[in-house]
Amino acid sequence: SQATGSACTATTCPYCGVGCGVNATVNEDGTLGIEGDRDHPANFGRLCVKGSALHETLGHQDRLTTPWVDGKATSWDAALGTLAERLQATRTAYGAESVAAYLSGQLLTEDYYVANKLFKGFLGTPHLDTNSRLCMASAVAAYKRSLGADAVPCNYEDLEEAELVVLVGSNLAWNHPVLYQRLKVAKARNPLMRVVVIDPRVTDSCEIADLYLGIAPGSDALLFNGLLAWMAANHKLDNVYLERHTQGFDDALAAARDADLSRVSAICDIDPERLETFYYWFASQLHVVTLYSQGINQSSSGTDKCNAIINCHLAGGKIGLPGAGPFSITGQPNAMGGREVGGLANQLAAHMDYHSPGALARVTRFWATDTLTPRLPEAPGYKAIELFEAIERGEIKALWIMATNPAVSLPDAARVRRALEKCPLVIVSECAAHTDLLAYADIILPATGWSEKDGTVTNSERRISRQRGLLPAPGQARHDWWIICEAARHLGFGEAFAYTHPHEIFDEHARLSGYENEGESKRLFDISGLAGLGLAGYDALAPIQWPVTYSAPHGTARLFEDATFATPNGRARFIAVTPRLPEQALSAAFPLRLNTGRIRDQWHTMTRTARAPRLMNHRFEPFIELHPDDAERYGIEAQQLAVLSAQSGEYRGRARISNAQRRGEVFIPMHWTDAFSKAGRSGAMLAAITDPVSGQPEAKHGAVALAPL
Ligand code: SF4
Repeated sequence: SQATGSACTATTCPYCGVGCGVNATVNEDGTLGIEGDRDHPANFGRLCVKGSALHETLGHQDRLTTPWVDGKATSWDAALGTLAERLQATRTAYGAESVAAYLSGQLLTEDYYVANKLFKGFLGTPHLDTNSRLCMASAVAAYKRSLGADAVPCNYEDLEEAELVVLVGSNLAWNHPVLYQRLKVAKARNPLMRVVVIDPRVTDSCEIADLYLGIAPGSDALLFNGLLAWMAANHKLDNVYLERHTQGFDDALAAARDADLSRVSAICDIDPERLETFYYWFASQLHVVTLYSQGINQSSSGTDKCNAIINCHLAGGKIGLPGAGPFSITGQPNAMGGREVGGLANQLAAHMDYHSPGALARVTRFWATDTLTPRLPEAPGYKAIELFEAIERGEIKALWIMATNPAVSLPDAARVRRALEKCPLVIVSECAAHTDLLAYADIILPATGWSEKDGTVTNSERRISRQRGLLPAPGQARHDWWIICEAARHLGFGEAFAYTHPHEIFDEHARLSGYENEGESKRLFDISGLAGLGLAGYDALAPIQWPVTYSAPHGTARLFEDATFATPNGRARFIAVTPRLPEQALSAAFPLRLNTGRIRDQWHTMTRTARAPRLMNHRFEPFIELHPDDAERYGIEAQQLAVLSAQSGEYRGRARISNAQRRGEVFIPMHWTDAFSKAGRSGAMLAAITDPVSGQPEAKHGAVALAPL
């Protein structure tokens, strides 16, 4: 579609963490014209099929347009009055920690900021977490353990400047297509560039691979421990870098000592020659980017896997340079922005943790919450899975869910549904009129969506971009930040939430991120250079990478260029990793390994992307992908309906028989819900097992049985 008609509005695509710039125009008939923004540094005008179909995924049909309380449509004032009354009654009867919030990487940073401020600062509960827990919590925890901060060191240009790009646990071609296109073009221009793909499945990303390693699921930490040991044994370490800028190398190497080629080859199920070729390529090049995503993060040892990767980069000094670094790519459009405001249960605010020196006093002063009872919580709250367990136990009595559908997306979804059923007060802010979650809601609040609201998002390379509203909201739908602030006003906190526009919220967020005095602990997230923009400056804000400070007013393209890390002594920490295999064990009853993931043309639970016929055409129904030998073993023909069973649920889909799948493993898409099909949900097929450090669920390693239907 051409962006014709009135003047273009520059905004950002909401369909993945690449964060492409989009120029949108309102046509005379009220529809949108869409084209890629040639000036946006994430995409330089490119859009993938989801981005270019954005205008087809909008519309007022199936939108929530009025607030509901106890099944009856009502006014905003009545809904918010009831919400405040019931939340307050819950706090009075059961204490501040009986209320909780569950947020989403679909929210804008300003929405996230006021939600975090209301729940932690004014309601005094630490129990605020986000669906980003399912997406990048392991990557966050690993960066913090190793580099001292949740700080992605690289940028997209590094993918183009690298001599070797390693894609591990990432089907970039389907899940971050514009980034894949950038890599493909860069590789075509530079014949010396190599790409290695490490994935149990042969994916479309293999099209540009010089080497493919079809790894056994869950064995990634051993693979990278093996690389560390190989580098040490073959004199490929950067000893000067190790000596000057790191600590803990000896312990990490000791933990990797038994990861010799033959053992790694046997356990990872990779031909030893191919394995050694990868090790040689990695060790011989300085400009190496290892790009990883959910295949690494969604694991019961995801944090260790991320750290095993970072260890190898530190060992070779392959970080803080153009074309070099461990690069975690986020799934959602604003997973990063949520982290920035403190939207994880283990964070306080502005990238500060509860234990960051001076953080509690600083935030209390900044939000002026010192006279409140209860005070700001002093310890982390429940992470996503723990939160729903606490609801099931009856400990949490009131939950506000914003812009996400945990009844579908969390593992052991049947248990999540039981918990929601039992929760005395469930409040849901949502755009779509038909989702599985709404059946559990006591109070439903209609929210605006993409193209209707204003704010900022941060993409996978730390780039803050504006989303801009250009279409009217349907019916009585309101912006999330407005809904939260009005709820705060009804709760008696109006003065602290008296914002009239998101630019005022952004300004406060930017000010909180800055340093107050010299004695504060070192932290990287600082956008104080964006404070005081005013409405005009905020409206004109061009994409910029944080940190943005007085000394770096134009942002920061790459971190750790001076090899000074955000740890107390400035040295990066090696983490000793003991590899562990998936915890969801195979058995005689459930003998197949289940992998789940996105497909190219759909987004999350399809409430928007299912509206576009051309997106549905790619894969229009739930499916089960399996190897031909497994098809024969279980008596399943191509296109036949089949059923997967797990301890906690069933899933039906059409068989897609493919050599891209390893024997003994099946793949299903994560998008279909009860609202779209009665086939089943991927979340129902997974046990609620999490990484002990990050709390991220093990969504790539279910155990299932297969039968024809
Ligand atoms: Fe949107 Fe991601 Fe596609 Fe870019 S790559 S157009 S952000 S879905």
